[in-house]
Amino acid sequence: MAKVIIDTHSGFCTGVVKAIGKAENFLESEKDLYSLGDIVHNNMEVERLEKKGMQTITHEDLMKLRDVDVLFRAHGEPPSTYELAAERGIRLIDATCPVVINLQKRVRQVYEAHGDDGSQIVLFGKKGHAEVIGLMGQTHDTAIILEHPDEVDRLDFSKPIYLFSQTTKSLDGFNLLIQRISQRIQEGIPFVYKDTICRQVSNRLPHLKQFSAENDCILFVSGKKSSNGKALFDSCKAVNAHTFFISEPADVRTEMIRGAERIGICGATSTPLWLMEDVKKWVENLLAVK
Ligand code: SF4
Repeated sequence: MAKVIIDTHSGFCTGVVKAIGKAENFLESEKDLYSLGDIVHNNMEVERLEKKGMQTITHEDLMKLRDVDVLFRAHGEPPSTYELAAERGIRLIDATCPVVINLQKRVRQVYEAHGDDGSQIVLFGKKGHAEVIGLMGQTHDTAIILEHPDEVDRLDFSKPIYLFSQTTKSLDGFNLLIQRISQRIQEGIPFVYKDTICRQVSNRLPHLKQFSAENDCILFVSGKKSSNGKALFDSCKAVNAHTFFISEPADVRTEMIRGAERIGICGATSTPLWLMEDVKKWVENLLAVK
């Protein structure tokens, strides 16, 4: 029978593990906990926690609540959300990842020092992503978001540039952006950049590529909302054409695994290990009935 292998390096990053740990600890003693946005970009894990009493809410919902317990997830929030929570007597369970807190602090310090001297604070990140919204808030939404190094033309090279990156962006993309700005920044104009990419994501990539190459087919398990999941899936697919994106065991079709001797299961930083184990059991059952 074919071998089914779970990648030992896949699964939650420490930021997500801590956030879920905080939610579970709280739910053991208290009944009601609100999570502002999905605690993790994985529906299956969100559903598991919702069964324990957690309820996912939006920022609009937060405006209507008072005197309740609300968890801020690992991606972080802008200062305006903290102000709103304080106004409404919300008790906070702040699960912002320490890596994101440090990044927010750095962006805020640069904004405080250079926010009104014509400098450009640039965030290499995805517009609308929760972490980027939190970072933009540190600059009163004045920072410039670049999603791709090709957007570099939007910058003014005659003015100072302070560049940061969303923690989950690709290191290659960030380095390319640095290279392009360095080539065009005018002489004597400061260009300061800080590599703030989380190594729990970037270090995963070389390993995932190797894992994809070692197996005949890859079942990449991720929630559809995970940007990290989409990026890592694309990287696996580039190495192994027989790579399939699935969100739950029932997504596996027999043609995906047909003829494979080694079936690899891996996932994003938002993919729970229990879900990959469920996929493994499902695949083994499929193989047994063939
Ligand atoms: S990917 Fe890194 S920065 Fe983001 S939550 Fe996980 S550990 Fe924190």
